[in-house]
Amino acid sequence: MPVTGETLTPLNPKVHVSSIGQSQSKAEVSTWQQELASAVRTPEDLCSRLGLSIESVSSKASETFPVVVTESFLKRMEVGNPRDPLLLQVLPVAEEEQSATGFVSDPTGDLQAQSTEGLLRKYTGRALLVLTGTCAIHCRYCFRREFPYDLAPKSLAAWELAFEEIAADETLSEVILSGGDPLVWNDHKLQQLVDRIEQIPHVQRLRIHSRIPIVLPNRITEELIQTLHNTRLQVVMVIHSNHRNELQGDCLDQITRLQQQGIPLLNQAVLLRGINDSVEALVDLCEHCANFGVMPYYLHQLDRVSGASHFEVPMEEGKQLVDELRKRLPGYAVPRYVQEVPGALSKQPIE
Ligand SMILES: *Cc1c(COP(=O)(O)O)cnc(C)c1O
Ligand code: SF4
Repeated sequence: MPVTGETLTPLNPKVHVSSIGQSQSKAEVSTWQQELASAVRTPEDLCSRLGLSIESVSSKASETFPVVVTESFLKRMEVGNPRDPLLLQVLPVAEEEQSATGFVSDPTGDLQAQSTEGLLRKYTGRALLVLTGTCAIHCRYCFRREFPYDLAPKSLAAWELAFEEIAADETLSEVILSGGDPLVWNDHKLQQLVDRIEQIPHVQRLRIHSRIPIVLPNRITEELIQTLHNTRLQVVMVIHSNHRNELQGDCLDQITRLQQQGIPLLNQAVLLRGINDSVEALVDLCEHCANFGVMPYYLHQLDRVSGASHFEVPMEEGKQLVDELRKRLPGYAVPRYVQEVPGALSKQPIE
């Protein structure tokens, strides 16, 4: 697991000179890193922990895209329920092996949007850094499940090309940290990254797209909070929750902590067959988010990545669902229903 293993390389001799070159020693490996290291990583373990039979599982699918589920997320699943909406997001099933027309390995055109390794520029004013291929969970519907992450720079020094490109374009006011999950970077390395981005005068905002507040709440450490608190950049965090049951317990505690820092929190969900494809499930998710000060941002049409066709909800159905949401929810709690179209200048509204 490349969680603590990535080497720290000096970026700028003035930055954190004392800590450069020190990788975290065993004693310093924090709780979240331990929890990630001991995540459930086989379909067998996942089923046995939930008291389920292994019959519906595809070990072939888990060979190409392995199972990863944290203890915290697992605890929010219902034991003995093979249709649990959290389980269905992570369980490898035989349907993944079916090939379906139109489902491809890079549905969002990310490879062609890569201007420098690890840097994606699709939209005006925003540059997105694919910091890592690692996630604290593996979502079976993930559009980046086939992305060649190994190509992304590993050390901070190797990101310098991307920083230079951002620095050279004054139209960029926002840097988005994405992945994989950008919060699998350790605190020290993230601090160095933020320091470096801050040096670019025209960058005003730092947006973090992460599923970690949902799946590995322990990761929201005091150091991370301090980094986000101390930066001159306006931080915005977009969390990824697809179902109300995800927003429970330790996850809500950490969301509240982020909130107390005044960090605007938004939620992005993917419309998923069998998981949140009903008015009730979506109203529940959006209201629950709003109750905790997390504003529903996007409801994404599934990106058509190979292996995920069984999760797709037709757009006509999605539109009807969102129409119902408009009738039932305050305007601010209705997410924008969008799809990613390769080559388009923004996420495309589905209306
Ligand atoms: C989705 C995305 C963004 C952010 O788009 P918003 O509509 O501002 O949320 C930026 N860059 C890339 C490459 C993206 O895929
Ligand atoms: S956390 Fe996000 S990037 Fe990672 S597998 Fe899930 S959907 Fe994909």
